[in-house]
Amino acid sequence: MNQYKIAISSGKGGTGKTLVSTNAAAVLADQGKKVTFLDCDVEEPNGHLFLKPQIEKEEDIMLFSPIGIDEEKCTRCGKCADACAYNAIVVAGDKVLFFPELCHVCGACEIVCPTNAIITGNKKIGTIKHGKSRGLIDFHYALLKTAEGGMSPRLIEKVKACSGKGINIYDSPPGTACPVVATVKDVDLCVLVTDPTPFGVNDLKLAVDMCRKIGQEPVVLVNRAEYLDDELKNYCRQAGLEIIAEIPDDREIAEVYSRGDLVIDKLPRYSELLNNLTERMLEWAKKNKKK
Ligand code: SF4
Ligand code: SF4
Repeated sequence: MNQYKIAISSGKGGTGKTLVSTNAAAVLADQGKKVTFLDCDVEEPNGHLFLKPQIEKEEDIMLFSPIGIDEEKCTRCGKCADACAYNAIVVAGDKVLFFPELCHVCGACEIVCPTNAIITGNKKIGTIKHGKSRGLIDFHYALLKTAEGGMSPRLIEKVKACSGKGINIYDSPPGTACPVVATVKDVDLCVLVTDPTPFGVNDLKLAVDMCRKIGQEPVVLVNRAEYLDDELKNYCRQAGLEIIAEIPDDREIAEVYSRGDLVIDKLPRYSELLNNLTERMLEWAKKNKKK
């Protein structure tokens, strides 16, 4: 069985990314396809609120990393602070301060420290939960430990390591920062969900730029597709971006979503749209995989 990896992302929060990813996973599973849902938004996972998985297993994710400074060995030379690109170590007077929440575990401080004063050890960066949704969908999501923001990409890699055969749907964090790059960098298809507002178009442009910088050619899905002007369509045309689907601005969709339900279950009139949408996603993922 082939493996396809499809990321659902967006330039900003609140565009309907999770609405799309959870409904797409349910629709594909209902068609009898093998689906794995991976919530890569480890700082604010919410796919489980809609797909309601039965959790079967939970595991702590540990990482070997700096956990402090040995004050007796430390000469306050400042080399670690100079080497740290994330300002996780600061030398202030006769003190060396370590801020674990800023540490990205790059290892530079250990390499440059002349006295082996960097104390390392295992620290917990989060928890991953594994389960099944609708009896068919393999479901994985993680919870990043509070104050471990710098560890998001590492935890996302652990979630992605749970990818299975068949279709993998990655619910990406929003934006263009490292956690998004970690999610979309090696997928077969990145779907950018946007709305046709000026803010939506602006954030879409940033997301498209990010994707193209890392070698991804995204497609666009318009949610709340109530067009007040041609800005979004003009931009997509000029940038050579295909709009694979449009979900109308329907109050009932918003109500279903706010109750934690799936559109495919509650609003059957959208089943054709959702089936077409998943078909387009798969076509693109297959086409990109062949390249
Ligand atoms: S491991 Fe890297 S990020 Fe962490 S404190 Fe050392 S130099 Fe800074
Ligand atoms: S590099 Fe090592 S010795 Fe120098 S300040 Fe940092 S921890 Fe102390």
